[in-house]
Amino acid sequence: MDDEIFFKSAQRLSAMLDRREISSVELAKAVIERAKQIDSKIGAFLSFDEAKTLREAEESDARRKKGRPLSVLDGIPVSLKDLIAEKGQPLTCGSKILENFVSPYDATVTERLRAAGCVLWGRLNMDEFAMGSSNENSAYKPVANPWNIGCVPGGSSGGSAAAVAAGETILSLGSDTGGSIRQPAAFCGICGLKPSYGAVSRYGLVAFASSLDQIGPMGRSVEDVASLFQVMAGIDKKDSSSFPFRKPNYLAGLSKFSSLKRLGVPKEYFQGGLDSEVRKALENAIEFYRSAGHEIVEVSLEMTKYVMPAYYIIATAEASSNLARFDGIRYGFRSKATSNAIDIYFKTRGEGFGEEVKRRIMLGTYVLSNENFDSYYRHAQKVRTLIRNDFMRVLGEVNAIIAPTTPTVAFEFGKKKFDPLQMYLCDIFTVQANMVGTCGISIPCGMSSTNLPIGMQILGKPFKEHEILSLAYEFESAHGCKNLHPKI
Ligand code: GLN
Repeated sequence: MDDEIFFKSAQRLSAMLDRREISSVELAKAVIERAKQIDSKIGAFLSFDEAKTLREAEESDARRKKGRPLSVLDGIPVSLKDLIAEKGQPLTCGSKILENFVSPYDATVTERLRAAGCVLWGRLNMDEFAMGSSNENSAYKPVANPWNIGCVPGGSSGGSAAAVAAGETILSLGSDTGGSIRQPAAFCGICGLKPSYGAVSRYGLVAFASSLDQIGPMGRSVEDVASLFQVMAGIDKKDSSSFPFRKPNYLAGLSKFSSLKRLGVPKEYFQGGLDSEVRKALENAIEFYRSAGHEIVEVSLEMTKYVMPAYYIIATAEASSNLARFDGIRYGFRSKATSNAIDIYFKTRGEGFGEEVKRRIMLGTYVLSNENFDSYYRHAQKVRTLIRNDFMRVLGEVNAIIAPTTPTVAFEFGKKKFDPLQMYLCDIFTVQANMVGTCGISIPCGMSSTNLPIGMQILGKPFKEHEILSLAYEFESAHGCKNLHPKI
């Protein structure tokens, strides 16, 4: 299976492109064909523009012919979650309310991928407006987990994870507000990095909760994720929340890992509710780090139990403000059953948004209302500070934290769809990084007895992505998970 072009790593493919063993057009055709063959089963793509993708691949081949590739990723297909703007392409956010909306401009990350010569391939399915953990909230179609098509791929970047896992693309971008890169990466057996808040520009990312959202890279190996992060990270004057930090060479840094680290294992993450096979896989991974010479210490993240309640106040409050712009006037869909202006707003929003999005808008509007603002929103902000302090205190004692990404492996369709609380709990281990604004990566660390991937999460200090990437690489190099592919 590893011999299939579409399962090769971006690093391998880049070397093959250099040696003219393959052209970018051939590579683009391989992923396009693969998607055409299997995407009716997976549902990872919402749309694609084959001719445009092949044109970009031709341009890349022309650059290589002249000996002037723009980066190591020149000619490599990268697919974008359908909430990251690409000029001239649909931008639906998985919602009916943006049906037929075409983006008039490029997001900063999209511009940066172009500047690196990446071949932009397709628009990836997602939970509507990135709200969800199973991709069952897409207004268009569900995404299936390539390891078992009866199971969900996770969410909200379910399309981004499934497309990479199934070889329908080489790399993808997702977004992570409370776990939406790491959780689907874990469920689909790939790597996903949620960058520190401010490391990647949010310009051109349709906002869900602006103080939590980050765009991040997803791929089948740590090296691939590091090389994609290299081209997308960095300050941007179009996003005032992006931050000027020193960007090391992430790829070169991976193998230079030398100094042994102090790694924290939070005891709160290993209590009841954690699936026994996930626990076992994590214990094995921790044992691996210990025997490699790292110091393992138990730590306590005392604020853990307040993370979910505070998140669901802050995220919904921000969502209710951000989603106010979808009014039937400015973008996409407009209800036909209207007789006056007020009607347009009400009916468009009533018909255009799905159940979960409406639930969040109502919750968010409630916690921001005059009479509830202090007791909910302001309170949650104070709790967020305590969560951050707690986390930074622990990160003062250790270099990184090792934890499960999710409490369980991927579950069957319908299992949690009608129980929002159960669905929200899928993110119990991932939300903390967003509340703190720090970085986290999920990498595969084993398989369950039902042949579903298990994810390990490594959380680091803000802007220390190179440290968690190195730790992830160290584990990955010793284990064969990156060479496992679903049979589909
Ligand atoms: N599943 C979480 C939610 O529904 C996180 C979503 C995300 O990270 N975009 O809010």
